[in-house]
Amino acid sequence: MDYSDDPEVAEFRAGLRAWLRDHLDEHRDATGYESAESVERTLRWHRALAAAGYVGLSLPAAYGGHGLPDLYEAVLNDELATAGAPPPPPIGHIAHAVADFAGEDLKTRVLPGLLGCTEVWCQGFSEPGAGSDLASLTTAAAPDGDRFVVDGQKIWTSGAMWSRWCLLLARTERDEPRHRGLSMLVVDMESPGVDRREIVLASGSREFAEVFFDGVEVPAANLVGERGQGWRIAMHMLSYERGPADMGWVGRLGRVLAAARDDVRSGRLPADEPLRRRLAAASVDLRVLQWHVARSLADRDPGGSAGSVDKLLTTRIEQNLHHVVGDLAGTSFVLGDPAPYGDYLWSRAQSIYGGTQQIQRQIVAQRVLGLPRG
Ligand SMILES: Cc1cc2nc3c(=O)[nH]c(=O)nc-3n(C[C@H](O)[C@H](O)[C@H](O)COP(=O)(O)OP(=O)(O)OC[C@H]3O[C@@H](n4cnc5c(N)ncnc54)[C@H](O)[C@@H]3O)c2cc1C
Repeated sequence: MDYSDDPEVAEFRAGLRAWLRDHLDEHRDATGYESAESVERTLRWHRALAAAGYVGLSLPAAYGGHGLPDLYEAVLNDELATAGAPPPPPIGHIAHAVADFAGEDLKTRVLPGLLGCTEVWCQGFSEPGAGSDLASLTTAAAPDGDRFVVDGQKIWTSGAMWSRWCLLLARTERDEPRHRGLSMLVVDMESPGVDRREIVLASGSREFAEVFFDGVEVPAANLVGERGQGWRIAMHMLSYERGPADMGWVGRLGRVLAAARDDVRSGRLPADEPLRRRLAAASVDLRVLQWHVARSLADRDPGGSAGSVDKLLTTRIEQNLHHVVGDLAGTSFVLGDPAPYGDYLWSRAQSIYGGTQQIQRQIVAQRVLGLPRG
């Protein structure tokens, strides 16, 4: 992606490229969550990136970040993808929620571990009965003097099995309307009463867990923001999670497209006229997305609804691209190299996490277009 680098950005980019030249080879296989070994390789990659100064670029320097403009996050994603490196740690959305809402003491205690990747975090929002309708969640955090006592269950919690901390959305105000009764807590996953149970996916990934909380004590000092502010913080966080710049999608897609184009150009994969046209259309889509990402970064809207547009657009373009790649490859897509098929499966998950496509469309209809509720 060409961001027309100014001198500082160009220097950053050159330094990153040099670092990748020297260090990437030992981390190339840090891509999965299928076994304890692959998790450890992935976490080692995250720690190496952090130690080299490439995590938390747009987060405040006082807490372990680097205080740079958002654009640097996109440059990082771009360079990692171009070099074929594993993705950076997916923590920007959690870090922004804590940095923007937590008090000084909490930020000082927890952000350096998060941004240094020495302590892994997970996001405890979804419950068996509350996914799209998140505000109906029932996990309770009962205020009790200088602590909260948490009881309930979360599900689909990415990374919970190896997380030290959970950013937990729970109900603290039983008598308030449902959106206003929620608060955000930082929960130590090693506390007595926390029970994590692994969920193994059909793809073999062990990324998910369900997490049970049984009388878990959380110090009141671990409350992020104010009591009853949980919904607002969750929406702020999701606005980052839905943005393509934070998740590094665009760079990865450019690599997938380039590989498909090379396969067709070299004749390794035969492509008839309709398939060639679909590949060309995917290439145009991707260019549109690149410009959209650049604009989103220049016009960041934390807590707003723009992330829903980003997520809808990116998911559609990504899923379409993987369809084209699959159709080009034919049966070898499923029977050959597992990586492209794994990317395809991952693209399917993208229309679910961080809020499904249907939910994003509702947000765009109501909050961006101002249409009445159906
Ligand atoms: C890869 C991945 C990672 C995830 N990581 C996490 C995590 O770390 N932490 C976490 O808390 N959660 C996580 N999730 C869970 C995710 O947030 C939920 O799966 C998602 O919000 C949908 O909730 P649900 O699964 O309960 O589906 P449901 O809400 O039951 O939805 C089922 C279907 O009904 C549709 N639907 C529901 N309500 C409406 C409506 N009002 N109008 C129209 N259609 C509707 C949905 O769009 C969907 O198609 C992850 C999910 C995935 C796939």
